[in-house]
Amino acid sequence: MKASMLIKAVVVGLLLALTACGGMAPAMQTNHRSDRTVDSAMPAFENRLETDHFVLRWTNKSSHSGDNIADQQIIQDTASYLETAWEKYAALFGRNPYIPPGKDKIEVVFREMDCYGVADPPDGPIQLNSYAWVRDKGIRQPTSAHELFHKMQYAYGYKVDWVPRRPYMWLIEGTAAWGEVYVWGRVSRTCKVDEMFRDTKLDIYDADDMAMPFWIYFVQGNKENPNHALMVELLETLERRKDEKKALDEVIQAHYGSVESFFASFSQARKQGFWAECCRAPYNCILGPDGKDIVEKVKGLNKKG
Ligand SMILES: [Zn+2]
Repeated sequence: MKASMLIKAVVVGLLLALTACGGMAPAMQTNHRSDRTVDSAMPAFENRLETDHFVLRWTNKSSHSGDNIADQQIIQDTASYLETAWEKYAALFGRNPYIPPGKDKIEVVFREMDCYGVADPPDGPIQLNSYAWVRDKGIRQPTSAHELFHKMQYAYGYKVDWVPRRPYMWLIEGTAAWGEVYVWGRVSRTCKVDEMFRDTKLDIYDADDMAMPFWIYFVQGNKENPNHALMVELLETLERRKDEKKALDEVIQAHYGSVESFFASFSQARKQGFWAECCRAPYNCILGPDGKDIVEKVKGLNKKG
């Protein structure tokens, strides 16, 4: 890796870590690098759509053209994606996503920024990247589910009742990426599925949302009958113990025995390909933003050894 690439990778990593962004809007996917960040001033929103659990706001009059969305259908589609994700999470967890005190719905805003989405801080709105949203249809479903999963994490006290300790992004971003697959069977960036297998030396604690395969492994999504209750148990244990490492260790020990052995078995599976076995939807076929199945590609990587 060249020094400039290394610096870029570090900067990108830091940005992701600092903002809990749901994926950069990278040149490789949108051919566009935004100078707008999550800290840039918010445009005024003259449009509003209210659904059962969300209030969506957007503009088509911003002087910064990347903020604008002219097609209301895009907003309506997104609203239905958010409601679908809400239903699936609420059904699995038996609990609703976090809504800030004094409000009865989650606010969602659209504007251009340097990542696909943000749901941070807990009391803030879900922010979605209007520029990327208009141009890349394939990110809309997974990014909606990803950002709403952060609101599930807040419902279990993350950043509300307990403060995480590093490294935690692999858990927080990794499980939010798991939410993309759980709800839609697709991800906003292919690297969330294949990077762990492509680069078997990538440290899982540095992998952020690319640690997602670990969480599929954790719920046995590579087996015939995934155990999604483990994700519920993980969040409940996090709420009780207020410590990522202790909570994860507790759940792994209760279901798999030795924590060390579990991580070692995942490490081995990364090299051999845990998708070799049969498994059920949504994990047997995971689509990238381009609509192509990434799991088949990963199986191909494994065949090459
Ligand atoms: Zn995220």
